[in-house]
Amino acid sequence: MTDAEIAHQHTLLPITTIAQQLGLQEDEIECYGRYKAKINRRSRSDKQGHLILVTAINPTPAGEGKTTVTIGLTDALRQLNKKSIVAMREPSLGPVFGIKGGAAGGGYSQVVPMEDINLHFTGDFHAITSANNLLAALIDNHIHQGNELNIDPKRVLWRRVMDMNDRQLRNIMSGLGKPSDGTIRPDGFDITVASEVMAIFCLATDLQDLKTRLGNILVAYTKDNQPVYAKDLQAHGAMAALLKDAIKPNLVQTIGGSPALVHGGPFANIAHGCNSVIATKLALSLGDYVVTEAGFGADLGAEKFCDIKCRLAGLTPDVAVVVATVRALKYNGGVAKDALSLENLDALRAGLPNLLKHVENLKSVFNLPVVVAINRFNSDTDAELELIRQAGSTHGFEVALSEVWAKGGAGGIELAEKVIQSIETSTKKFHFAYELSGSVEDKIRAIAQKVYGAREVLFNREALDEIARLKQLGYDQLPVCMAKTQYSLSDNPKLLGCPKDFEITVRGISLSAGAGFIVALCGDMMRMPGLPKHPAAHQIDVDQMGNIVGLF
Ligand code: ADP
Ligand code: MG
Repeated sequence: MTDAEIAHQHTLLPITTIAQQLGLQEDEIECYGRYKAKINRRSRSDKQGHLILVTAINPTPAGEGKTTVTIGLTDALRQLNKKSIVAMREPSLGPVFGIKGGAAGGGYSQVVPMEDINLHFTGDFHAITSANNLLAALIDNHIHQGNELNIDPKRVLWRRVMDMNDRQLRNIMSGLGKPSDGTIRPDGFDITVASEVMAIFCLATDLQDLKTRLGNILVAYTKDNQPVYAKDLQAHGAMAALLKDAIKPNLVQTIGGSPALVHGGPFANIAHGCNSVIATKLALSLGDYVVTEAGFGADLGAEKFCDIKCRLAGLTPDVAVVVATVRALKYNGGVAKDALSLENLDALRAGLPNLLKHVENLKSVFNLPVVVAINRFNSDTDAELELIRQAGSTHGFEVALSEVWAKGGAGGIELAEKVIQSIETSTKKFHFAYELSGSVEDKIRAIAQKVYGAREVLFNREALDEIARLKQLGYDQLPVCMAKTQYSLSDNPKLLGCPKDFEITVRGISLSAGAGFIVALCGDMMRMPGLPKHPAAHQIDVDQMGNIVGLF
């Protein structure tokens, strides 16, 4: 059965029932139809659940299943009578219509109604798109209306966004036409999830903090090299007004009947890749176990979750679950994509160092207890599964088989038990990979050497100039958001497994002053993806009754 068919067969509970189970009062939820709601309540600091981070080995075309395991683990914890909640990102339309398809989990571990969640949901991304583009319009209008701030039209940093994969709009000239049609300048669109507004939305602690951060967005430089911020254009108030409802976390449910807070969805390359701080904090104040996912592999997702999100929000994760699959490990061991279904113990052994490196990082760099979840695929053999368990006993980490894709929560009991046990017995104390007080170069070096295993970091001229400028502007004490390929621990997507003795090259630095981090660009980062030759959109359809097919 497809994911959509499984989701359709399931009978949903009214969202008011899920809200009651969470202890929410009637006036604390705003229903968006029968199965979705926004929660209108602040988190309370008197109660704190445990925070479980789900991360993974480096992604491969074989697929890892972080979201699926995140949802299934939440349902498994619920089956063990724990008050569990999943906190995760909202899907972007780009991947839904592109290669990946939806991002609402898979098999019997999904959040529902999956077609709503994957498509317009409660309109948050539209609101974020509007806020982003309002700022763009205000900048160009300011230039057109006399340019009192002396903005250099060639140094406008702010780009327009839409939530679609559309390479045609990556680089454009805007303002063509008559003199009354604006100023001609190089311009372009990013995908909404790559907008700094999205990153701000996910790091803000409340509406007021959101407004302050929006005001701090660096939008351009003047002709005499001075920074121009969104607040200089009086943009932040109206932007925050557009986001006043979006900022409330969305409540839906899993197939297993667990509450799910699905809120925000920043890219994991040029942004930090996890759901909103507001949703995570609210979940922690409503439940005993909160399971959350960080995008991409642990080198990007978990590192940013810890060093950016947890640091800025004052959160402490209790345990990290590292998702691995036999197939993805074999891929890391050099097996071609079409041969991953055949048993191959040598390749599995060759790919294991990728898993070992991520486990080691979480244990010693971030000082977290670790449970490895093997996300079981039908093609996995007993000998292959046993080999990973063996590695666990040799290298001293817990391994649990996860069958949540095939069985829902019932397939995650071993994993849930090991997660609970790790939380209860651990004496470890959470660490960051670096302190904020170091230089920008030192912070990048710490991440590259400790987390990626790089020998050295090279900075090109442009990056060094920008670091000097940021220092002058007083931004060098911010955390660093690494923008690098997700496929490798290095900055070369072809170096699989656990590469050694490599260099990381920082090609550019950019400032997300509102979000509160410095982006280090290692290689070309896609801020506006394109569609593949056979987009998922071709399979998506809707019948006379309004039933959607083809989402996965
Ligand atoms: P991630 O969050 O790591 O990107 P997802 O959980 O979204 O991964 O899963 C990616 C795709 O793989 C989904 O379509 C999901 O249904 C599928 N998938 C996940 N786990 C399994 C499994 N054990 N067997 C088969 N398909 C799976
Ligand atoms: Mg995911």
